[in-house]
Amino acid sequence: MSANRDEILKELGLWPVWKLREPPAADALSGSTGAARSADALSGGAGASRALPKRPPVVADAASALPLDARAAEIARMDWPQLKASVAGCTACPLHKGRNKTVFGVGDEQAEWMFIGEGPGADEDAKGEPFVGQAGKLLDNMLAAIGLKRGKNVYIGNMVKCRPPGNRNPEPLEVSQCEPYLRRQIGLIGPKLIVALGKVAAVNLLKRDASVASLRGKVLEYQGTPLIVTYHPAYLLRSLPDKAKAWEDLCFAVETMNSLQNTKPAPI
Ligand code: URA
Repeated sequence: MSANRDEILKELGLWPVWKLREPPAADALSGSTGAARSADALSGGAGASRALPKRPPVVADAASALPLDARAAEIARMDWPQLKASVAGCTACPLHKGRNKTVFGVGDEQAEWMFIGEGPGADEDAKGEPFVGQAGKLLDNMLAAIGLKRGKNVYIGNMVKCRPPGNRNPEPLEVSQCEPYLRRQIGLIGPKLIVALGKVAAVNLLKRDASVASLRGKVLEYQGTPLIVTYHPAYLLRSLPDKAKAWEDLCFAVETMNSLQNTKPAPI
């Protein structure tokens, strides 16, 4: 890296250093450690009582009731409309009980780049779109720093499509029930490169427990698609030293993308 640290931070839209402007919301006070937590702190203002959006009724999806293998096989055959409808009606794990909206994923359905986070926070649960809170703003800045834009050759998704209560990390059962959806999204999109944002996404995609620090800087893979790991934007909002490392990871991602063959695998 030739640029100095301040230049890197400016490039990422992080200078002067980002700080939460509001006191933590109830979730943060409950001791939750989930990466999406920072989104909550922005959502209502100091002590504001925000009217919760009315929950849409859940029209139960047939795949939800199947055993995991059969469910995964069923989901693996779905097209986009079927997949979206199935996610919207999913009751396969307990997370559906607390959700306002499912958060399917957003972006270019033929994107070469796919960014995968952990799970929706309060803002995402209210809006039904991933990374729309404070961490999302940073993610948008990170994308802009490497010439990318949400929705243009980029798809953004999460390990789980419903908000874990208190923004805790998703449980293994929740991830295993939800992963077939993500796998099918990846199959339909056929991205050239996946960027796993944070430890929860990395360990669940790679099926091995390791730190982000030990996984970054390598080209790994998820089901045959090259994958690299970087820090989660919500974590970066709290950790100044790792912002420069995230910038290195983004540069590495661009190099990796450029080195990949100029062909896009056909969607499965
Ligand atoms: N954090 C995540 O991991 N995903 C989101 O969609 C928002 C915050």
